[in-house]
Amino acid sequence: MAEHNADNNKPDNQTGKLRIESRLAQIGSMEEPVTGAVTYPIYQATAYRHPRLGQSTGFDYTRTKNPTRAVLEKAAADLESGDAGFACSSGMAALQTLFMLFSSGDHLIVSLDLYGGTYRLFEKILSRYGITATYVDTNDLDALESSRRPETKAVFIETPTNPLMMVTDIAAVSAWSRKHGFLTIVDNTLLSPYFQRPIELGADIVVHSATKYLGGHNDVLAGLIVTKGQKLSEEVAFLHNSIGAVLSPNDSYQLMRGMKTLALRMERHQSNATAIATFLSTHPQIAEVFYPALPGHPGHEIQNRQSSGNTGIFSFKVTDARYVEPILRHLKLIAFAESLGGVESLLTYPAVQTHADIPLEIREAVGVDDRLLRFSVGIEHPDDLIEDLAQALEAARAEVEGVR
Ligand SMILES: *Cc1c(COP(=O)(O)O)cnc(C)c1O
Repeated sequence: MAEHNADNNKPDNQTGKLRIESRLAQIGSMEEPVTGAVTYPIYQATAYRHPRLGQSTGFDYTRTKNPTRAVLEKAAADLESGDAGFACSSGMAALQTLFMLFSSGDHLIVSLDLYGGTYRLFEKILSRYGITATYVDTNDLDALESSRRPETKAVFIETPTNPLMMVTDIAAVSAWSRKHGFLTIVDNTLLSPYFQRPIELGADIVVHSATKYLGGHNDVLAGLIVTKGQKLSEEVAFLHNSIGAVLSPNDSYQLMRGMKTLALRMERHQSNATAIATFLSTHPQIAEVFYPALPGHPGHEIQNRQSSGNTGIFSFKVTDARYVEPILRHLKLIAFAESLGGVESLLTYPAVQTHADIPLEIREAVGVDDRLLRFSVGIEHPDDLIEDLAQALEAARAEVEGVR
């Protein structure tokens, strides 16, 4: 296993915080003083009684603030080392809420090889309101410099990207961005705060599709925003309440339940993904494996410097596009499905699923072609996953070559 320099798991002496594993396991468990319940209850009430005129218990109406959601939001802010957390009804709802910080005429610099839904939000919706985006390799400071405009307001990064696993140096981009007065926003879905905390590296805002690793069980749709600084936190609080794409009390509970095991799951996702990526990297039917944990990956060193581990998803290209259909048909354990970050292993075909909304020229320019498959490695036994892939590859080879 690669040696990671970022020591994410030391106890914080200045704040007296516990190690992240302990904080995760204890989410909400010390927040209910009346009964001492070790899991925080689900408050369904949408309305809250005021003691008298001009007084409030701190809760008025659930869109603005809900007790169950508030516990989740506090945990999110703590885990990402920010000042405020906001739970939204999906990752896309979190992104949309966040992008409402910008106005007509504003410009953003955005990672190339972006999540398809975020690209669609920029190109099909935000563009109609005059908010524009330029897609660049955010690890190339020259490219950043030449895409900078007088109306630029922020840099939006995914690292590693999905599906091609391009890694961006968060500290370098945040420093550049700050110098020009831009906000730095990082979509941290793929690593989670267990492995990477962008705010500690200089980012202003972190966003998550909590549907993925944070929830972790392919059974809750949710998004999170974490902000640094009072002004930004107040601005996002205003948008969160005004737009109203907030997470329900039930889903807030479900998400906290998943987050309690994040540390265990991420360790297993990482070790499984490393074992399988290593197996595929020498397989004769595999042309290329994209996974920053592998020493040959161009982002390997930056990844090791800025995070304490690797995600459980990686991509690979088969040597012949004709293998794809039979591989998907012959898999027995691994499901052919979109999404990522859950305990069950899922294989995705980005060109026709997650990235279908990205125009062919752009997709092919970054390398999302018809030979690329994305694997979200679950927490099953790695040998069972390797055996399933091996038999599907062999069956595909036999069909394509007409052997047997
Ligand atoms: C899934 C995903 C999203 C969108 O989140 P939803 O919860 O599906 O709305 C955004 N960014 C990334 C990187 C994702 O993987």
